[in-house]
Amino acid sequence: MNYRHAFHAGNFADVLKHLVLTRVLAHLALKPAPFRAIDTHAGLGFYDLAAAEAGRTAEWLDGWGRLDTPFPDAVEHILAPYRAAVAAVRARHGATIYPGSPALIREALRAGDQGVFVELHPEDHDGLRARFNGHARTKVLHGDGWTALNAMIPPPERRGLVLIDPPYEVPGEIDRLGAHLARAAAKWPTGVFVAWYPIKTPAAVERMAATLGGALARPALRLDLLIDRPDDARLSGCGLIVVNPPWRLADEASLFLPALAERLARGGYGAFRCEALGPRA
Ligand code: SAM
Repeated sequence: MNYRHAFHAGNFADVLKHLVLTRVLAHLALKPAPFRAIDTHAGLGFYDLAAAEAGRTAEWLDGWGRLDTPFPDAVEHILAPYRAAVAAVRARHGATIYPGSPALIREALRAGDQGVFVELHPEDHDGLRARFNGHARTKVLHGDGWTALNAMIPPPERRGLVLIDPPYEVPGEIDRLGAHLARAAAKWPTGVFVAWYPIKTPAAVERMAATLGGALARPALRLDLLIDRPDDARLSGCGLIVVNPPWRLADEASLFLPALAERLARGGYGAFRCEALGPRA
């Protein structure tokens, strides 16, 4: 396990993922019934952008660091829960902190809601546990996120979301994502699933999306953000599959994806894609 999210926190991939995560959380909070948010590859939970790890790659400067200037109002409206969660975490933990997905989830939990965070790396797990265990609404588990996912759904609340955000260190992990996602969505048909993938080799993404689209019995969205021309050697884009997306997410994506593609592009190249997958596609 070489991947450490501390080197990548707040980069363009986190911006897309955390923006959509906070939209889904805001949607779940519209109804009073409790929900559960399960994060299968949770990371550390908090990252200091002034620390040596973040400084070594400086990736956040081309992600969160580019959001300082406001977008047009319609886009800012969509970003509001993301910006509010980052601001709330910073107010309590320090102005250079960037929240990982567990911290963003915790901000959204109400009395009765639950957050469950799974992490395999021993050090990151220990850090996560120190920060999130012992709180009534959050629980940290040490182990394999894929196994935990299968064991934990459907949750007792019957409403909620799963974030699947693996590090893609193992070849073929993108096909594994498609297979696990199809199985999980069948096991919990009303759950919202948000699954992240890197775009280096577009053919691998096409194959996963086509197979998954054929296997899903539920509607899904594919949201791709490209900040550079596809390149096998480095991350030029990323995407999310959202199964059972909130009903407004496709319309919202038609506003925030072009805005992010323009703002986060490297060397003037930015592109995006928003497409339906599954039975209604
Ligand atoms: N979701 C986090 C966020 O948005 O802040 C970032 C997660 S990072 C991309 C992926 C994490 O998965 C790493 O912390 C890594 O240690 C962990 N990991 C790797 N393999 C795992 C596995 N099989 N099960 C659970 N976690 C795993």
